[in-house]
Order: sequence, then C-alpha cells, then structure tokens
Amino acid sequence: MISLKGIKKIYSTGDIEVAALRGVDLQIDAGEFVAITGPSGSGKSTMMNILGCLDRPTSGEYFLDGADVARATGTQLAEIRNRKIGFVFQGFNLLPRTTALENVELPMLYAGVPAKERRERAIDALESVGLGDRIHHRPKELSGGQQQRVAIARALVTKPAIILADEPTGNLDTKSSIDVMAIFQKIHSEGNTVLIITHEPEIVQYTRRVIYFRDGAVEGDKLVENPRNAAADVQSMNVAI
Ligand code: ADP
Ligand code: MG
Repeated sequence: MISLKGIKKIYSTGDIEVAALRGVDLQIDAGEFVAITGPSGSGKSTMMNILGCLDRPTSGEYFLDGADVARATGTQLAEIRNRKIGFVFQGFNLLPRTTALENVELPMLYAGVPAKERRERAIDALESVGLGDRIHHRPKELSGGQQQRVAIARALVTKPAIILADEPTGNLDTKSSIDVMAIFQKIHSEGNTVLIITHEPEIVQYTRRVIYFRDGAVEGDKLVENPRNAAADVQSMNVAI
C-alpha cells in the first residue's frame, strides 16, 4: 500500500538547511494499523505531510497504492491526495455552522457523488462511528470525542486507500481518547488501513505496529505485543465512574 525508499526532506531557510528526514525506508501493507511516534522534532509531522501528499520529499521514492507520489506534478499530487487519503486532524477541522451530516457529505460533494447517495453514505458512515442519533447536531453541540468521530466518518466516507490521523487524540481527555481509539480499532477490523501519528505512549498501545522516529530516521519498527482493547477499556472506565 505504502512504499518509501530513501526519503529525505531538507528544509532551507536562508542559508540554514535542516534535514528533517534523513533517509526513511518503510513498507506499510493494506489493512495495517500503524502508529508513528517519537520525540518532538524527530520528523513526524514532516513524514505525515509527505505521506499525506501535502508535501513532496527532497529525494527518495514514494509509492501509494500504485501512484508515484515523489514524481507527481502539483495537480497530480492533489488528485492522489483527494482520491486515496482520508485525513483526521488534532483539531477535528469540522465546519462549525453545518451539521455532522453535512460535514460528512462535503467530501462526496467535491467528488461529484449524487445527492441521494451522498446522504445515504454519510448516514452509514455516522452510524458506523456510533453517531446515528447525532446526525443533525452541529459541532458545538457535540463533545470533543464525538466531533473527532464525525471527522473519522468524514475521512472514511470516500473509501480512501489509507486513513492518516495526525495526533487525533491530542485535544481530548483520556476517556474520549480511548473512545476514539475504539473507533479506529473498529474501522481497522473492517479492513481499513489506518496510520496515526502520536507522541503519546498510551495511544500507541491500541495500534498493532509502532514505528519510532528519532532525528529524522526510523529508530525502531515493531509489532505491538498484546494490543489493548479500547472498547473494553472505555467500558471499565464507565464502571469505575
Ligand atoms: P515532529 O513533528 O516530530 O515534532 P517535525 O517534522 O515538525 O517534527 O520537525 C522535524 C525538524 O524539521 C525539526 O528540526 C523542525 O524544526 C524542522 N522543520 C519542520 N518544518 C520546518 C519548516 N517548514 N521549515 C524549516 N524547518 C522545519
Ligand atoms: Mg509534529
């Protein structure tokens, strides 16, 4: 699904050059649930921008679901991004004045999906993240965890090759964070490929594979032993409260 070879990213500001990525090799298969983690400044956001086709590497190879990202023109890059990637952001990035349903319909409007199908697919996506009874609520009428679930539904609804989430639990309390991880575990179990970027070690425990970045390079890459079950953890927190 994702193949990176020798990815380098050099930022030049004036005479100063920063090597944010210093030769990254990575393979991620369809259906994996992966966390990229590492300390501040290790290159996670730079990697996210390249993986998400928001930016191109200075050098190296990047193939995403058959598309040659490193060699794509600006228009091609935008098209790969729109067709193959569903984004989830730390700050949810929902349109504040529109309902959950309208937020989830929007990417399909851009993709030219007919109105009736847009509505049906948006309702399905919201039901699949447990928000079937909140479809007409606006973001400010939803909790942070619920807003992030709307954002996950919006990312899913175009059936992207991969869901990319940048610090998806960064604005949430512990319980909402685990609740959001339960949704990621569910959509992973349904066959979706999910990659999250997080600096929180507790969040990594809910994924299946963890890739550690340090100083712009991959320092470790291993399977998570005994991944935690987020739905069960949320349940036991409810009992504790
Ligand atoms: P992380 O997300 O792991 O904290 P980043 O990818 O944001 O790391 O940053 C990696 C390195 O690249 C840091 O040294 C950072 O200062 C530098 N960097 C990031 N973005 C830019 C930019 N737009 N211009 C110059 N340097 C940058
Ligand atoms: Mg960052």
